[in-house]
Amino acid sequence: MPRTLDPELRRALAVRIRYYNEMGIYDFYRRPLAAEVLISRDEVEGIHSGQALESGESMSPRKAAALAMPVVEENIFEVIALKPEQSVSDPVTALKIIREDLGDCTRCVLHEQGRKQIVFGVGDPKAELMFVGEGPGADEDTQGEPFVGRAGQLLNNMIKAMGLEREQVYIANIVKCRPPGNRTPEREECETCSPFLMRQIAVVKPKVIVALGATAAKTLLAMSSSMMQLRGRFYDFKPAGVCGTDEWDGCKLAVTYHPAFLLRDPRQKGEAWKDLQMVMKELGMKAPKANA
Ligand code: URA
Repeated sequence: MPRTLDPELRRALAVRIRYYNEMGIYDFYRRPLAAEVLISRDEVEGIHSGQALESGESMSPRKAAALAMPVVEENIFEVIALKPEQSVSDPVTALKIIREDLGDCTRCVLHEQGRKQIVFGVGDPKAELMFVGEGPGADEDTQGEPFVGRAGQLLNNMIKAMGLEREQVYIANIVKCRPPGNRTPEREECETCSPFLMRQIAVVKPKVIVALGATAAKTLLAMSSSMMQLRGRFYDFKPAGVCGTDEWDGCKLAVTYHPAFLLRDPRQKGEAWKDLQMVMKELGMKAPKANA
């Protein structure tokens, strides 16, 4: 049987959790309890409506979503683990909420190391196929869009060779700010930034993710194997830290070489093409005519 808390204490706890949510904090950790603590629908809804009545101002998508969060009688920590975008069905709005949460991010050192702007992600918010790279380079930093430089041109060709247009896929990076001198992002930078990517993935709900290069593969899979070990198979993938929803049970993830690496060593293009053919088969796509 669940343990019940003093109603006053429960209410205070719910208010405190909402307060953290308002500040954009959703992830909480707790020591395991012998029994679960329940909070009722009325309690949280009461808090929601109270907040809504007090504020006459127009609401941002993120705030509106937080207030509209569906609440069921269940473990309070399950309720708060839902991200605000999970209460909206339109993926465009959901992505806007995540972008709004990201704000003018200063969470890691990259914000003070010469970045011009945050490079969020681009493409079809309902794409079946998603590409994840490492981090913006100089061109991406200038234009605010991932993969628009030389590596981006090659990625576009790879996408075309699969019989798709760039606009039909979703493209993002592990880190959203340009590392100085295009250095590999540090582990801490990847860990700080990737929760936002995980939320983007959970909104887009692709069927397949292609991790471009070792940084993307290792961060998404939380594995430290070599590219040779990582390529050539599918992994079952669910974004870490995002509560599952009924209608999406995760996707497949494949690893291939980063286009920048292929520019340096074009002999590996054939291997990358094999990886993309494996992805096409998984997506039920017809074999195209030409190679990338
Ligand atoms: N390399 C990446 O990993 N991402 C980009 O957006 C551009 C180059």
